[in-house]
Amino acid sequence: MSFRWLPRQAANKLGNPLEWSAVDKGILLCWIVVPLYLLYIAYALAAPSLSGNDALFHPGHLRWLLLFLVAATAIGLALGALGLWYRRHHPDSLGYQHLAVQFYAASLTLLGYQVGALSLVSGIVLAGAPLVGFIFFDRRAVLGGVATALLILFGSAVFSALELIPYAPVLAARFGGGETSPFWVFSMLTVYAVPHLIVLFSLSAYVIHRWHQREDEIKRLAIIDELTGVANRRWIMDELERELERSQRTGDPLSVIMLDLDYFKRFNDHFGHQAGDEALQSVASILRSSLRTPDRVGRYGGEEFLLLLPDTDAGQAAEVAERCRQRLGETSVLKDPGKPACITASLGVSSTRGERSLQELVHQADQALYRAKHGGRNRVETA
Ligand code: GH3
Ligand code: MG
Ligand code: MG
Repeated sequence: MSFRWLPRQAANKLGNPLEWSAVDKGILLCWIVVPLYLLYIAYALAAPSLSGNDALFHPGHLRWLLLFLVAATAIGLALGALGLWYRRHHPDSLGYQHLAVQFYAASLTLLGYQVGALSLVSGIVLAGAPLVGFIFFDRRAVLGGVATALLILFGSAVFSALELIPYAPVLAARFGGGETSPFWVFSMLTVYAVPHLIVLFSLSAYVIHRWHQREDEIKRLAIIDELTGVANRRWIMDELERELERSQRTGDPLSVIMLDLDYFKRFNDHFGHQAGDEALQSVASILRSSLRTPDRVGRYGGEEFLLLLPDTDAGQAAEVAERCRQRLGETSVLKDPGKPACITASLGVSSTRGERSLQELVHQADQALYRAKHGGRNRVETA
């Protein structure tokens, strides 16, 4: 399910419901039940005349239902208001969340008893609400709510079976086939079941959608270098391991280039650390745009980059390295036109056709880089 219909600003303002405070989650429950109860009040008022069957509803019990609904709405509103106070003073209060969950569980199951403890609606709430609840609320609060709900629903079913209390008291024509009367079935399905299903489905779909978004963000953070946007060291080494396995299997060539910026400490000292960061970003983007699609760039260390070139032999890799070196040398790495700044790099190339280990390959590139540094910098050396 996509939530593109939800304006971006609204979605941002709503934040990730998984990260809402304990009290905000409790308040949400109150705001969910109050409109539901208002709907049911309207239903209880209109049902006798809408049904066209005077015998279907017991007027005395319908009055009780109405009274119950008005009381539940008032409690819901009062709890919501209490939540606003808690929000200011104790936003992480689990006690308030327990209270809201208990209210939700008890009031809905008492309503369930009145329309039938063993009905479809009671089943939906009893199965659906804890499922969504466990994703969203404190586990102990949900377990407490489930215990209360089970006690009320199962208890009332048993007491009804023992004829100590009536079953589904609102429905007077029960024994005259009231449960299968078209109006009652229609009421149970559309007025009672559908609103709960809509609430439970939209809430869980939204929460799970945000969950996936967060997972994508975590995945991205785990593999990307935050400053430069290229692969981080762990990810480029994982990729190298995969490519090396492939090269060992197929015998295809594989090359790596180790690149270290020249005199970068001086660059930092001269332009400042922030400019140094900007330069690293520019270097990463110059390198990325100098490579083919299957090639990868990773930030290996502070100002060291590792380039991974599949299906590339030593000669081709040296050409790529030379191209990178030239483009770095002729491009200003700072955006500010007032201080054009070029930077050079030394590069070491090593290659394999599957005969070297990962450590050997990286070590040889490192050694070649060392030679490039000692040979005067701003140059390419091949292992
Ligand atoms: P050489 O030519 O021998 O490589 O000289 P160098 O100064 O580049 O080498 P050295 O390894 O001694 O210094 C690397 C410098 O890179 C030190 C550090 O201040 C800088 N550096 C490392 N990571 C970052 C970073 O994330 N941001 C910035 N601005 N500077 C960094
Ligand atoms: Mg350096
Ligand atoms: Mg270095």
